Parts: sequence; structure tokens; C-alpha cells
Amino acid sequence: MPVSTIDCKTQPLVPPGTCPRCGSHSHVIGEGRGPHYASILCQNCGRFIRWVPKPQTPLLTAVQRAYLAELGHAGPLPQTQASGTQLIFEYLTGERW
Ligand SMILES: [Zn+2]
Repeated sequence: MPVSTIDCKTQPLVPPGTCPRCGSHSHVIGEGRGPHYASILCQNCGRFIRWVPKPQTPLLTAVQRAYLAELGHAGPLPQTQASGTQLIFEYLTGERW
């Protein structure tokens, strides 16, 4: 795969950009590699456009934080929405006190 001359960190997420080889604006999502979640390739000529960052994990919401306080949770707060949901579930089902 050719090394991109485009700095993927400065490319806006939408629109994905113009293909430097053929000028096309059509892109397809390709495979990721190593730390890269996925890649964006030109749909027309297949040139690599840029890497796609991993979607951000939704963080614990204020509502979850307040609810956990209401449930009497005194330990460290979970970082993500998913682990917050899991913790609240454990309180509600009596797995935790
Ligand atoms: Zn192209």
C-alpha cells in the first residue's frame, strides 16, 4: 500500500476528501491495520485516502453518575457508559450492595 501524502489527522471526517490520484469523491471503507480501525479507499481507483479512527467509547453519562450516587455507590466511578450500565444492573439485581 502506498504511503499517503495526506495527513490523516488533519483531514476532516466528513467529507472524506478528494482522491489525489483521480479526483473522485466516492469512497469505500476498507480494512484497518495495526492500530487503525479502518481505512478509507477511493471507490474509483482504490487508492488509500486515510485511516479511520476508532469510534469513541461513550463515556459515563451525568444521569448514570447521579443514579449511581442515589444507589449508594461509593467506589470509583466507571469510565464508560457500558460499564456504568453494567454496574447499575448489578445494584438493581442485588449482585452488589
Ligand atoms: Zn481515486
